[in-house]
Amino acid sequence: MPNKGCTVKPLKIIRPSILVKDLKIKPIITARAEEDISGVARKMVDNNINHLPVVDHAGRLMGIVTSWDIAHAVAQDSQKLTEVMTKKVIVALEDEPVELIARRIDKHEISGVPIVNRENRVRGMITAEDISRLICSQNNKEGDSQ
Ligand code: SAM
Repeated sequence: MPNKGCTVKPLKIIRPSILVKDLKIKPIITARAEEDISGVARKMVDNNINHLPVVDHAGRLMGIVTSWDIAHAVAQDSQKLTEVMTKKVIVALEDEPVELIARRIDKHEISGVPIVNRENRVRGMITAEDISRLICSQNNKEGDSQ
């Protein structure tokens, strides 16, 4: 049928946004600023993780330490976590869409962000690995597995 000047765009499939709080978040594992580097490294190995939010006594976010920072500490013979942790932390809020967090992680060239609530208390971690797993499970559900 002639379309009389109308352009036909391909059908766009819009998925409802998945929010950070909808994800199955692993138990929260954190570090305290006064912990030494070897203790933090042990926590990472025992729990098979690469990121630890650093919190105060009330669970409020103070920084982040990653396995990259631990390698850095070893390279410069540093014993104190406060010398290697990053204090200005990029975070995710519980009500944000996961897609937005994926873009944030990409933009800042990091591999994970702590999830915090409005009081800056740590609720968990979301990593690039969690996001790829989510995409794979969505694709599998849609019968698009590769
Ligand atoms: N490409 C690696 C990765 O994705 O983990 C290393 C990137 S970068 C050089 C590593 C630095 O980013 C570390 O000093 C780490 O503390 C910091 N970092 C990691 N996650 C962060 C976050 N959510 N907010 C701020 N800094 C972060």
